[in-house]
Amino acid sequence: MIEYDYDLFTIGAGSGGVRASRVAAAHGARVAVAEEYRVGGTCVIRGCVPKKMLVYGAHFAEDLVDAKQFGWDIPECTFNWIRLRDNVLKDVDRLNGLYTETLENHKVEIYHERAEITGEHEITLASGKVVTAKYILIATGARPSLLEFPGCEHAITSNEAFHLDEIPKRIIIAGGGYIANEFAGIFNEFGSKVCIVNRSDQLLRSYDESLRDRLLQISLMKGIDFKFNTTFKSIEKQADGQLLVKFAGCDDQLVDLVMFATGRQPNIEGLGLENAGVATGAKGEILVDDYSRTNVDHIYAVGDVTDRVQLTPVAIREGQAFADTVFNNDPKTVDYKAIPSAVFSHPPLAAVGMTEREARNALGSIKVYQSDFRPMKNVVAGRNERGLYKMICDADDGRIVGIHMIGPDSPEIMQAAAVAVKAGLTKADFDATVAIHPTMAEELVLLK
Ligand code: NDP
Repeated sequence: MIEYDYDLFTIGAGSGGVRASRVAAAHGARVAVAEEYRVGGTCVIRGCVPKKMLVYGAHFAEDLVDAKQFGWDIPECTFNWIRLRDNVLKDVDRLNGLYTETLENHKVEIYHERAEITGEHEITLASGKVVTAKYILIATGARPSLLEFPGCEHAITSNEAFHLDEIPKRIIIAGGGYIANEFAGIFNEFGSKVCIVNRSDQLLRSYDESLRDRLLQISLMKGIDFKFNTTFKSIEKQADGQLLVKFAGCDDQLVDLVMFATGRQPNIEGLGLENAGVATGAKGEILVDDYSRTNVDHIYAVGDVTDRVQLTPVAIREGQAFADTVFNNDPKTVDYKAIPSAVFSHPPLAAVGMTEREARNALGSIKVYQSDFRPMKNVVAGRNERGLYKMICDADDGRIVGIHMIGPDSPEIMQAAAVAVKAGLTKADFDATVAIHPTMAEELVLLK
């Protein structure tokens, strides 16, 4: 029998890689992981987690204004970006430490350097060290896609947004997806003049049209500007540091910062995929089967590098299923149906299942229930911002096939509602449930 140095060598210590490595080790495998940047990956280091902390920080801007209507006289408040930034980065350090500890506690060997597949079962580390493994897992994630035009090097991505030395007075955000809308809300609340520039006339393409329209309406009301059907021609850096941005589709703009939020592409460069004969798809994504196995029997891939569903909880499930399948003789696949998701915009939106349009196309006959309401807190605050909840049901049997919500705390409410959709519950099941009054969530069981 061939002796390998490890049973599993994981490349990339993000959400998927850490879960797979830790669980494989718990199943008794000898595991090593290579990470060239920081243990924790995009979500923990420069994605979901620090972003959510900024969203919390941003929300105070409105809460402090609203407080007056609730009887609180607050002396003039000022915002200290550096303090928030450093507190967020400190917590990222803490989480980075916890993730590292988890791996160490499971006796997973960590190599803090790049790794390349150099032979069938062989991995060469940046230091020159060569190791062998029975199985190799690629969990290298994805990185922001950059637009290319003259002066594009002056733009940043969300990676750099967490480290800014100051909040820009004016910022242009390219793209109309998750990151663009979340950071538009953040910067707007921190006092920047924000302009979203998108190549099409649609925001958040995969979400229900009613929610997208509502977010656009509220964002405009909050002062965020939008330029649709617009592409970039160039960015010219001025002597004083300002950026002159030229477009096809609208007038030039002079701003302090440009941020790209135009999707993410799989990290496959320099991995030695060609040495191992691992097949990739049109976007560079690693092609895998239901068990996350590539076309090479002993090489697997999980998470964003496979470009299936670019969400942390999905990568974690893929990592878990891989480890259980390969190291616990317990074959598992991930169920990709009815995955709930959220956009932490201001206000946030959340969804599970089919949009109205998708359901109409797939089922033909559907019933749509909707509640368009002003949350109680907004009424007292004098904030003219309405929430919108929408439930889509199969007209034949009343089964709920989609729920869509925009309004305060909708991601928190959605997590519970998604269980019901996943379980195949009907509108009648919701109707039979007594409301908790007064809440926003009660709208879900009172839909007409
Ligand atoms: P998205 O896929 O959400 O949006 C990309 C945007 O960029 C779209 O508006 C798209 O326009 C536009 N775009 C794409 N390619 C180009 C191009 N070549 N030129 C100009 N515009 C372009 O990507 P994000 O970068 O916002 O986020 C990446 C992924 O990260 C998300 O898909 C999501 O999976 C994940 N994420 C999840 C979050 C969450 O769960 N809350 C938060 C942040 C990220 P159009 O639609 O018109 O084609």
